Formats: sequence, structure tokens, C-alpha cells
Amino acid sequence: MATIIDGKASADKILENIKQKVSELEKSRDRKPGLSVILVGEDSASSVYVKNKEKKANYVGFNSSVYKLPETTTKDELLALIEKLNKDDAVDGILLQLPLPKHLNPSDFLDKIDPKKDVDGFHPVNSGRLLNNEKPYAVPCTPKGIIRLLEEYNIQIEGKNAVVIGRSNIVGKPVSMLLLNKNATVTVAHSKTKNLSEITKKADILISATGHAGMVTADMVKKGAAVIDVGIIRGNDGKLRGDADFDTVKDIAGAITPVPGGVGPMTIAMLITNTLELYMLR
Ligand code: NAP
Repeated sequence: MATIIDGKASADKILENIKQKVSELEKSRDRKPGLSVILVGEDSASSVYVKNKEKKANYVGFNSSVYKLPETTTKDELLALIEKLNKDDAVDGILLQLPLPKHLNPSDFLDKIDPKKDVDGFHPVNSGRLLNNEKPYAVPCTPKGIIRLLEEYNIQIEGKNAVVIGRSNIVGKPVSMLLLNKNATVTVAHSKTKNLSEITKKADILISATGHAGMVTADMVKKGAAVIDVGIIRGNDGKLRGDADFDTVKDIAGAITPVPGGVGPMTIAMLITNTLELYMLR
């Protein structure tokens, strides 16, 4: 049976350390790290994510604020808020919660956030730096959390075959780049990939970020592989599931992240880590 990678325990440890650091920093600096989150509209999943982010930011002692804007917010209004936060010296990290309402295009806003306050690492300066293997101001939170988990569990990356299922800008592409920068041999699969299981069976590290519950089955996994399940899908029974069929895959894999309690908590811990790192830059 696989080692269960406990993302919740790792995330709690990271948050505890940051909380300690913030209380020490308060003695030497005149202000706390500041995180501003912008939520536009009424998406219920986004509201839950934002509430969790605010809770953890408050827990570690950050100065956090959430800007809840109505569904009808215009492009100019959102740009004006981003501009105001860019200029605010008390703000170290700005997070624009996605998805936005349909009339607003994320790419009109993500590159307007100051790259040095771009806590999600989505600004083209930061994604470009990641691509060039130069240090970005911030690395996207979920991919960064995945690498942290692999490292914490001593799962070797260099020289290993890594297969990433999914090529989104938030997960698939940046995690592929991080793995490549750490000298893995990386294959990126997506919905048009043929013979997926032949590819995944060669993976020493298999990362799945599709949002299709249970699509990674035991017969797709190499014995002893590390399986990192990014998917979060709420079933009709209200329970959260991942991309992997956990109960069967855990008998083949060498290590596996559960859903919930795997990658999810690490994503928020990395958001808090990124905010602190941006604060330290200034
Ligand atoms: P996304 O933008 O919808 O991307 C999904 C990717 O999966 C696409 O690249 C798609 O291929 C690929 N895909 C879909 N069906 C496939 C199939 N049958 N075979 C192979 N590839 C397939 O999703 P995302 O934002 O990356 O999120 C993915 C999942 O991770 C969701 O469940 C999301 O909720 C979860 N998530 C979790 C966290 C966390 O903190 N744990 C963070 C972010 C996201 P195409 O490009 O060809 O369409």
C-alpha cells in the first residue's frame, strides 16, 4: 500500500512556521505582510476558496482584506481597484480570484497586477521567468505546493519520468515547467492525447489535473509511482473526490495524495508563503 502524502499536515507545519516568523517580524518592521483578495461576482466555490484564504491569512497574522465586487463590475472599475492596490504600500500580494464573470476577460487584468505583488504568479513576467528558469517573484501556488510535497516526501525528481495530465495555465503548464527545471523528463497529456494509459504507465511521477473524478485508474499507474492528484470534484453525494480512483490506485502507487487533504491545503499554504516572500522583497 502506498504512502499517503499528508498535505494537510505539511500545510499546517508551513503555516505554523510563518505565523512564528510574522510575530518576530513585527518586532523589527513597522508593518505586517498584507494580502488583498479580489472576488468579483457570486460564484459559490470561489466564495468558499476566498473565505479559506482569508482565514489562513488572518491565522498567520497578515493584514488581509477581501474586496467583494458585484457581478456587474465593469472592466474600468476592476482596473481602477488593481491600480489602487498596486500603489498601496501596505499591500504585498494581490490575488484576483478566478473565474471572473463572463463579461470580464482574465487576461485584461492579470498583467495589470504589479509583478512584484502578483501572489499567484500569473503575470507574464512571472510565467516568462519560470519558462526561462529564472527566479519568478512568485510561482503559481498549486504547482509550487506539489513540488514542496514531492521534496518533503523525498521523492526524487531529477532524471525521473514525470507525466502531467492537464495543460491549464494554473496547474498543468507551470507544474510541467517546474519539473523540467528540476531535471525530470516531462510529458504533458491533455484531452486530445492518444493512448493515455500507455504514457501514464511510464510515469515515475504522475500528476493529474483534469477535474474528472476517478479517471486515473490502477491499470494506468506504474508500480511504485508517486501519484499527485490535483483534481477536486464534488459528487452528487456532496463528497469531494479527485481525478484518481484512490481506493485501487493506492495499492499500486508508491505514494499518493488523498482528496481532500492532499494538494488543496498546500495551495493555500503556498499563497501565504508567496505573500511573505513578496513582503520580504520590499
Ligand atoms: P482546466 O483548466 O479545466 O484544465 C483541465 C485539463 O485537463 C485540460 O488541459 C484538459 O485538456 C485536460 N483534460 C480534460 N479531460 C481530459 C482527459 N479525459 N484526458 C486527458 N486530459 C484531459 O482545469 P484546472 O484549472 O487545471 O483544474 C483541474 C482540476 O484541478 C479541477 O478539478 C480543479 O478544481 C482542480 N484544482 C485543484 C487545485 C488544488 O488546490 N487542489 C487548484 C487548482 C485546480 P484540454 O486542454 O485539451 O482541454
